Amino acid sequence: MIAEAALGLLPDPSLLIGDRRLAEASGGRYEHIYAATGRPTGTIPLAGEAEIDLAVAAARAAAPGWASLPGDQRRNLLLRFASLLEQEADTLARLSVIDNSIAIGIAKYGPYVAADSFRYNAGWADKIGGEVISTWPAAALDYTHDEPYGVVAVIVPWNGPVYAMGMVLGPVLAAGNTVVVKPPELAPYAVLRLGELFLQAGFPPGVVNIVPGGPAAGAALTAHPDVDKIHFTGSGHTAQHILANAAKRMTPVQLELGGKSASLVFDDADLDAFSGQALAGIVNNSGQGCINPTRLLVQSGIYDAVIERLRGIADVLTVGDPTDEATVMGPVVDQRAVTRIMGMVGRAGACGARLLTGGHRLGGALADGYFIAPTVFADVPPDAELAQTEVFGPVLAVTRFDTEEQGVAIANGTVFGLAGYCWTQDLKRAHRVARSLTVGNVWINGFTGIPASVPFGGNRQSGYGRLGGIHGIREFLRPKNVWIAL
Ligand code: NAD
Repeated sequence: MIAEAALGLLPDPSLLIGDRRLAEASGGRYEHIYAATGRPTGTIPLAGEAEIDLAVAAARAAAPGWASLPGDQRRNLLLRFASLLEQEADTLARLSVIDNSIAIGIAKYGPYVAADSFRYNAGWADKIGGEVISTWPAAALDYTHDEPYGVVAVIVPWNGPVYAMGMVLGPVLAAGNTVVVKPPELAPYAVLRLGELFLQAGFPPGVVNIVPGGPAAGAALTAHPDVDKIHFTGSGHTAQHILANAAKRMTPVQLELGGKSASLVFDDADLDAFSGQALAGIVNNSGQGCINPTRLLVQSGIYDAVIERLRGIADVLTVGDPTDEATVMGPVVDQRAVTRIMGMVGRAGACGARLLTGGHRLGGALADGYFIAPTVFADVPPDAELAQTEVFGPVLAVTRFDTEEQGVAIANGTVFGLAGYCWTQDLKRAHRVARSLTVGNVWINGFTGIPASVPFGGNRQSGYGRLGGIHGIREFLRPKNVWIAL
């Protein structure tokens, strides 16, 4: 099984610094494992401090030219890159499958979604300006000029690297910053291919530098004195290290972190519409998504009916070879993830949770990969580990609630604040719940992805700052105020 033939598509794993490729680096080499088979795909060089220094220097050297390039030229380069992304969509999707074993049926959308974000942000590149402000008491002309930060360090996650590159590099580059990207060691290939496409599109060398590396490279990058801003997508634990590093030089940081998002299903919900997305939280990316609704909060009147539907849906899901179009769910990313997830599954019963389906690894032809059956627990107490801690795997926690106030309180009752979902046909309730959820993004009666035009980000331990829309552009610009006596 598993199209190892796709390995022929793997890009040159060398670091991209300016217009140079480094086949060896001082951080050693990383053996990448294909999660669907547990077999190695190859090794990639890892950046150490020396290469991080080189990459930041290349980005610094390119920064003045990129910042002063007329907006229409930055716009056109971003548009050209978006077209290349679409031309390469098939290869990029297949590389994404090798990267993290995401099912091809989902992976194939990644390049198009990323291209859309580059296009959207290209539209801002030629509209960056400032404002004229009235001042007193002296007669004066006062205006602001929105300027890029300079060099932005970007650490992208392994669960959706192509998608994340679009979401983050779209605004970072459109705003006129240069960038050093550290792709995840677990999923390096598609991002490395994107590096080649940036040069092919005609981006000046040094505007985009790509340096695969592990935690040491990440630490060196985020502690670097010549980095002007940091974007990090990843876990709260790593974010704390990054913030501590950044604090030494007061480098501003934008954080997109984890979540434990709740989907509130009210008695008046359209159950047929809901059923189509009932298990999205654990099926999409094998549950390895920051915004996945991994808690299902169901009102008492329909609780038993929903439980019955969940059991039926879970039992017919196609789990297996991620290169097969019929597969809806592949494996989780590595053995470490299996151990963590199965540990949480094993402990869930002790707090009173009732296993409805799943709860085990898959064997047979899938035994060598990191496959876990779609798992649903009912009657999960709101304070249980399964309801409070990010599993990052295909495990759904279902909890019963009685009143709207109680449901909202349970939804808000974690340290996270990334996304919230609500299923109801009562318009007033929909708006009330949307206002009451202490999260960055709310979806009512469905989910179709994150449009490039909307602000996206979290509250509390899900991070801060926003990507997407004009908010994403502003995140990577800072206004300079100019006052002129008249
Ligand atoms: P992680 O924090 O373990 O690692 C992320 C990256 O940080 C890796 O590239 C790693 O090499 C690097 N790193 C590790 N130690 C570092 C250090 N001390 N300094 C700098 N960099 C360091 O996260 P992960 O397991 O790769 O990703 C999963 C997490 O990311 C989950 O919590 C998930 O919810 C979150 N996530 C959030 C979003 C979002 O948009 N909010 C999107 C995807 C993933």
